[in-house]
Parts: sequence; C-alpha cells; structure tokens
Amino acid sequence: MPYTGRFAPSPTGALHLGTARTALLAWARARAAGGRFLLRIEDLDQPRTVAGAEAAILQDLRWLGLDWDGEPVRQSERAQLYADALERLRREGRAFACSCSRREVEQSASAPHDENGVRYPGTCRQAPLHPGRPLAWRFRMDAPEPLTDLACGPYAGIQDDFVLRRAEGGFNYQMACAVDDLLQGVSEVVRGVDLLGSASRQQALHKALGAPPPLWYHVPLLEGPDGFRLSKRHGSISVAAYREAGWSPQRLGGLLAASLGWAGDGEAMQAAGWIGRVGRPLQPRRVPLDL
Ligand code: GLU
Repeated sequence: MPYTGRFAPSPTGALHLGTARTALLAWARARAAGGRFLLRIEDLDQPRTVAGAEAAILQDLRWLGLDWDGEPVRQSERAQLYADALERLRREGRAFACSCSRREVEQSASAPHDENGVRYPGTCRQAPLHPGRPLAWRFRMDAPEPLTDLACGPYAGIQDDFVLRRAEGGFNYQMACAVDDLLQGVSEVVRGVDLLGSASRQQALHKALGAPPPLWYHVPLLEGPDGFRLSKRHGSISVAAYREAGWSPQRLGGLLAASLGWAGDGEAMQAAGWIGRVGRPLQPRRVPLDL
C-alpha cells in the first residue's frame, strides 16, 4: 500500500512547539517513504475554534518548510460522511443509543476511571435507560483492542463504549478522525502519545467499518524545563513567538530535532534534514526552550 500520512491540527490556537515537532516528524516520515502527506483541519469543536487559527497554523507549517498534497480538508464540512458511517454501524449492531449525560457517566460508581479517563459503564447497552431524553450514539466495544505502536511498542488497548455522536447531534473526535483516516487512505498515523488510548478506540472503529487500520506511531510529548508536558505556563511556546524573536526555521528545526536525540545541541536542521533521520529511534531529551 502506498504511504499516506497526515497532520490533523485543531484550530484552537497558535501552533506550539510540541505540535510543530509532531508535524515535522509526520511530514518527514511521509516524504522519506515517497508518500503523500495530507492536512486535515479538525474543527468539529466549534466553540473552541478560534478565528484565524487555521491560516496561522498553515503559515507556521510553511515557514518550517513543510508542504502537503492537495487542499486541506475541514471536518466541519464532512458531517454527511460521518452520518453515513454511523448508519452502517447502527445497521450492523455496532452502535447503540444512550441517554446518559456526561455527568451521570462520570459519577457512576461502576465506570472504570484510570489514566484513559472515565470509561462507559454499559448502562444503556441493552436499551436507553431514559428513552424520552435526547439520545447519543455509542460504539459497542466488546473487548479491549490491542495494537503495536511503531514508536511505543505493544499496547494492551482499552475497552470503552465511546460516543460516536452526541445527543446534540455533533460527531465526536474518535468517529470523525477514524472515518477521515479511513476515507483519506491514511496508512500511518503520527501524533502525540496522549492519543494512544484513542488509537485503540479508532482501530476498533476501522475494523468495524471493514477497513484495515492504519499503522500507529505515537510521539512522546515535548517537555518543559521542569519535566512536565510543555504548556502555556512555560511561557512563549508558539512557533510564531520564535519566528517573531528572529529565529530561523533551521534553528528551530534543529532544536526540535535535538529534543528527539536527532541533532546535537545548537545544530541547525531544516525540515528536509529530518527526512534522513526518520528511521532512528526516538531518544527524547530536555533542551533549553527559552526565547
Ligand atoms: N486534532 C487533534 C489534536 O490537535 C489530533 C488528532 C489526531 O492527530 O488524530 O490534538
């Protein structure tokens, strides 16, 4: 199968260094394989979508030296595709209607709570407990879905009857992401390791929709100087802030490569330089990120 990779940012704010590093890696793996690289704007969560964020993210990606094949697609324009997939899952008994509110699930004593969040306790699996309420649709997941991640190794997977479509009608991230990866022919998903649990859910969905799942490559999260996941409280962490401070894309590309053990301290590396390194193991290390 020809390699198709993708980068799927949510336009909820500026592109930050951790996401930029994931984008560089995803792009370099696609180009190293001689494959396609697609861009998908995950703008389903309209209240969190920020005006202008999409254009700013594209500008930052171009500045870093990335390119993509075809026009970016937007999830907000693809609801019919998700509705068709849901219809198929319903017909085949893989989706069930659920009347539970989020709060009821969170407060249910029988819901498994762990590092993957709260999982659905199965309340409406036979029939909605309160059929008069607006109904969400959930995926019927009968067993944990294990996978082998190219970066993280074997993962036992999780079992969770996750939401496909919310009671208000909006489609959930898991559903949109899996349907898009399937329809866009994505062969390998490169993204942050915080989404490893989602890979288990999405792989089950790919199989239920009759498609071979993509390969998975989950990248460690970039750490701040204190060892915690890089976030706004660490200061200026957007690509734009570095550009505006006079950094070149080569210097920033080198710093991000160094944070994976792919470049030495102070080594400049533009995006094209990443292509030759994609076969190397990831050796995350802390690098000075202060502007
Ligand atoms: N849109 C998600 C995010 O920005 C990424 C989803 C994915 O790559 O599957 O966190």
